[in-house]
Amino acid sequence: MQFAELVGYYDKLESTSSRLGMIDILKEAFKAASHEEIGEIIYMTQGVLAPPFEGIEFGVADKLVEEAIAIATGYSKDDVERNYKKSGDLGNTALQLTKASKLRRMSSRKYSVHELYESMYKISQASGEGSKNIKIKTLADVIASSSPTEAKYVARYPVGQLRLGVGDATILEALSVAYTGERKEKDALEHAYNICSDLGLIGTTLVEKGMEGIKEFHVSIFKPIRPALAERMPTAEEIIEKMHGRAAVEQKYDGFRVQVHKRGKDIRLYSRRLENITDMFPDIVHAVQTEIHAQDAILEGEALGFNESTGEFMPFQETMQRKRKHSIEEKIGEIPLHLFAFDLMYLDGKDYLRVPYSKRREALESAIKGAKTIKPSARIVTSSPKELEKFFEDSIENGLEGIVAKDLDSPYIAGARKFSWIKMKRSYMGKLSDTVDLVIVGYYLGRGMRSEFKFGGLLCTVYNEKKDIFETVSRIGTGFTEKQMSEFRSALNRIKVEKRPARVEAIIEPDFWVEPRYVITVKADEITKSPTHTCGRERQPDGTEVGYALRFPRIVGEEAIRSDKSVEDATTTKEIIEMYQNQKRVRVEEK
Ligand code: AMP
Repeated sequence: MQFAELVGYYDKLESTSSRLGMIDILKEAFKAASHEEIGEIIYMTQGVLAPPFEGIEFGVADKLVEEAIAIATGYSKDDVERNYKKSGDLGNTALQLTKASKLRRMSSRKYSVHELYESMYKISQASGEGSKNIKIKTLADVIASSSPTEAKYVARYPVGQLRLGVGDATILEALSVAYTGERKEKDALEHAYNICSDLGLIGTTLVEKGMEGIKEFHVSIFKPIRPALAERMPTAEEIIEKMHGRAAVEQKYDGFRVQVHKRGKDIRLYSRRLENITDMFPDIVHAVQTEIHAQDAILEGEALGFNESTGEFMPFQETMQRKRKHSIEEKIGEIPLHLFAFDLMYLDGKDYLRVPYSKRREALESAIKGAKTIKPSARIVTSSPKELEKFFEDSIENGLEGIVAKDLDSPYIAGARKFSWIKMKRSYMGKLSDTVDLVIVGYYLGRGMRSEFKFGGLLCTVYNEKKDIFETVSRIGTGFTEKQMSEFRSALNRIKVEKRPARVEAIIEPDFWVEPRYVITVKADEITKSPTHTCGRERQPDGTEVGYALRFPRIVGEEAIRSDKSVEDATTTKEIIEMYQNQKRVRVEEK
């Protein structure tokens, strides 16, 4: 396929206003792709070069793209910068300046999708001395032989701003329709994706081996598994009942979720978002080497600072400080990190995903020796709500977040929030003092004092998993620090889009729409019914339509944007409805 053809699909994606429209356009694009191209087309559409866990980055900043546009179009760097300041989008700048290029077309070369991908890959691989020039030259060459529309996407791609708003589930559904003619295989595709976390591989396997190949997917080392997620419930009685009368109850650590992959001496660690974070935790890598009694293994746990002599846990914020790449070695001395292991997915040739929790736990415990840095999570197995309650209270007393109850018979359910794991936090017990994670889809301009920062608030959504769309639940206008405001302004300005993104459902309009990309953590007083928000919106007996909204929302923590969560990890519509019902019920019980 010619890159020009793919760009034609991208332009259509940009102008469609419905998710179904997106699926249709993607389906056509996938159908037109050859076997060799499908993987690359999928990565490109995601705005990446490879699955995120491979850590292949462009290493390209805005300035570098500006220089490439200047070379390719004959404008000065200042001209390009001025245009970019005005347009706020490198893509539009590339489009406009290519259209009005001062140079005669330097080359009549037409790039195929594969050639374009290779050029981009070359840009990512350039490192060391002279690499900046290689990157600029390669990009300038591509732009110089691009049409204005092609140039738009070429400029956006390496700075991570394609702004297509295509999600994982959207791609899976489009693949299903394109290659099986039906939507229903989407679930099997999703299942395979949850095991390998590589959409390009899913596409290639589907095209080459059909659904047979998809159904044969097994875990493999160094392909991280999409993490299992927990449902929530407010009382011990309900948890025990939901778990058929008996459950394992583990302490819930508020740290950093880590998936450990070990093949002999080669050890890699992945974050909850499945990024390769091996370099960030050298002490855990060392501990895996010495304390995991297995040749090959995949296991999961929560890493956090823990002072063994005082029994004190370090809060999430402090654990996160270690994340900052510099001074990692120093921090090890300051905060002794521990990994509280809570699950096992693979051990010496055996895939444990389908093995019941109780057996996985046995295998996990027997694989850990020494238990110095890596310890199995503390837990009890009980059928008594009273005992669960007591374990919960003790956990809170020890400075932990609460508990996670686990169904003894359940397999590891990758990538899904199911009742095989149920969390209970102190905050569910009364008002809504638990936090929610929201996806920003728009922002408002400031008035008065704040207009100095040109930032006045956020339009936020939750994720509707069933429909794979984002539904508004809150407009947040107060409580930001100046630092947060300027952080939001610069981050959001880079992902502005001209109209409501196709996967966002909203009644109210912000001053600017943005691609759903960033997650923030928000606290609110309660959840109320609302006519203006689309979260869980339903027609009432009186004919009106009502959704849910957060009352008195405010952002939590100093750090504005949650870099550890992707938009599909945000709180879901279903969770908001459950929280509303719990809140209502607690009130009735209190009366
Ligand atoms: P939440 O982030 O509130 O949805 O809670 C789920 C998270 O709790 C998981 O993603 C883990 O990072 C964390 N967690 C802490 N302790 C455990 C545990 N014992 N079992 C499972 N997850 C745990």
